[in-house]
Amino acid sequence: MTIKAWGAHAGDQPLQPLDIPRRAPGAHDVRIDIAYCGVCHSDIHQVRSEWAGTLYPCVPGHEIVGRVAAVGAQVTDFRVGDLVGVGCIVDSCRQCADCGEGLENYCDHMVGTYNGPTADAPGHTLGGYSQQIVVHERYVLRIRHPEAQLAAVAPLLCAGITTWSPLRHWQVGPGHTVGVVGIGGLGHMGIKLAHALGAHVVAFTTSESKRAAARALGADEVVVSRNAEEMKAQRRRFDFILNTVAMPHDLDAFLALLKRDGTMALVGAPATPHPSPNVFNLIMKRRAIAGSMIGGIPETQEMLDFCAEHGIVADIELIRADEINAAYERMLKGDVKYRFVIDNASMAG
Ligand code: NAP
Ligand code: ZN
Ligand code: ZN
Repeated sequence: MTIKAWGAHAGDQPLQPLDIPRRAPGAHDVRIDIAYCGVCHSDIHQVRSEWAGTLYPCVPGHEIVGRVAAVGAQVTDFRVGDLVGVGCIVDSCRQCADCGEGLENYCDHMVGTYNGPTADAPGHTLGGYSQQIVVHERYVLRIRHPEAQLAAVAPLLCAGITTWSPLRHWQVGPGHTVGVVGIGGLGHMGIKLAHALGAHVVAFTTSESKRAAARALGADEVVVSRNAEEMKAQRRRFDFILNTVAMPHDLDAFLALLKRDGTMALVGAPATPHPSPNVFNLIMKRRAIAGSMIGGIPETQEMLDFCAEHGIVADIELIRADEINAAYERMLKGDVKYRFVIDNASMAG
């Protein structure tokens, strides 16, 4: 069937309405009427071809929530009408060690929700800026939040899991001092989740205007990282720093804030590399720089259930689909508190 979507035909063109195909559900597929889709900075990187290899037409969107519209004959866990979500992963090999451990995000054959290889037309996956999506049941998540919160749940499907997974992997909890760098879509979820896990949370922002706002998210302290004196006062305090910044920047300024054996995990994926960090900043205190990519399907469900239990959702600004190009420009200026979410009903007609 053909449905309405928003996407681009080239990296230097704005997003526009498109008609796209969706496959008929196979035996293990779930067809979802998309209610809302969050707007991740990765959508901008991809649709503008800032990372290599964007395939066009490109329909971004991997923070998808909605209701099950149809299920294949073999689907047992989902029924028509269920509230569900889809994140960044719509397929993987299901056979390798990573898939076996529920870490499909590290499978060599992981298929992204957009720009991934597929037998479906047009030969690459098309994401959630669309009215419907058809996904194998293994990659569909259950949403247990009240329906009234559905739009604000959407960003958990990428921003939530991308911050949850490293916080859990590095066992952040009570007694830990944790820094979150860059208070955008990912960073604001990082603050909420690290706070809920019991850590002492320090937010690092370049925006003076976020000083008070970050405290309201659950930060115990806020540092404006452009202020050298404020940064100096933070030296050697941190067990763990989660760096979500989408642009190349000086990593040394943050590495110097780690304690002995501290780790800074990078989740921001800038289009060009960071300047190389100073090796002495690492060896002198046995510090580590690490990376982390989204999260696996079981831990995404764990994060969603944790958030439902603790009443955690994203802080969002709801937009119509035809506001997407303006929203991208505002995101690039850091002018969103903290995630745009598209009301996909605005794509009809
Ligand atoms: P976002 O909402 O645009 O937030 C990024 C934040 O970084 C901004 O709000 C800003 O926060 C800060 N920032 C921007 N430019 C900066 C600069 N030049 N110097 C210092 N700070 C700067 O983006 P997002 O959706 O959270 O995504 C962040 C990055 O993570 C993107 O590169 C995205 O592609 C990547 N990502 C990675 C994964 C993964 O699996 N690893 C998953 C999703 C997204 P302040 O105003 O507070 O300074
Ligand atoms: Zn994302
Ligand atoms: Zn695999």
